[in-house]
Amino acid sequence: MRIELENVEEAGGKFSRVYAPEQLRFEEAELRLSGPVEVSGRAGRKNGEVELRGELKTKVSAPCGRCLKPVELPIEVKFAERFVPAVSWRHEEQHELQEEDLNISVLDGEGIELDDLVKEEILLAVPGHVLCREDCQGLCPICGADRNLETCECESERIDSRWEKLGDLQF
Ligand SMILES: [Zn+2]
Ligand SMILES: [Zn+2]
Repeated sequence: MRIELENVEEAGGKFSRVYAPEQLRFEEAELRLSGPVEVSGRAGRKNGEVELRGELKTKVSAPCGRCLKPVELPIEVKFAERFVPAVSWRHEEQHELQEEDLNISVLDGEGIELDDLVKEEILLAVPGHVLCREDCQGLCPICGADRNLETCECESERIDSRWEKLGDLQF
C-alpha cells in the first residue's frame, strides 16, 4: 500500500490505513496476523526529506517456544522513519546517519510504500521468546507429548536407568 505524499499533505499531513490480515504476509511462516493492522500517523516534509511518525495496532499469532501452541499477542508500537532522496542518501556522512534516532530509508519518488515498514515494525515488536504461559512444561523431547496435557513415561524411565547404573557400582 503506497502513501502518496501529495494526498497526505492535502489531508494536513495525516494518514491512516487499515490492513486486513491477508494483505500482509510474513516470510516467517510461523508468524501470522490474527487481526487487522491499524496504522495512523503524520508525514512531514523538511529540506526534501520526509519524516513519518505514527503508531500501529494489531494482533499476531506465534507459536509457543516450548509447546508450539499458537499464542495470540497484542502488538502496539510507535514508529518513526526518515525518508531521504536517493541523491542526498549517497552524500550524507556515515557518522551522521548513525547519530540519528530515526530509521532511514531512501525516498522513492513522491510516495512511500507502507507495507514493508509496517511488517518490519511488527516483526520488531514480537518478543524473541514467546511462551503460552510462564510455566509451560513444553513437549517431551523423546515422545513429543505435550507435558501440559499429559504425563509421559519417558522422564521417569530416564531416571530409572540412571539408578540402574548406580546399582552396578561396586562398593
Ligand atoms: Zn507452551
Ligand atoms: Zn515422553
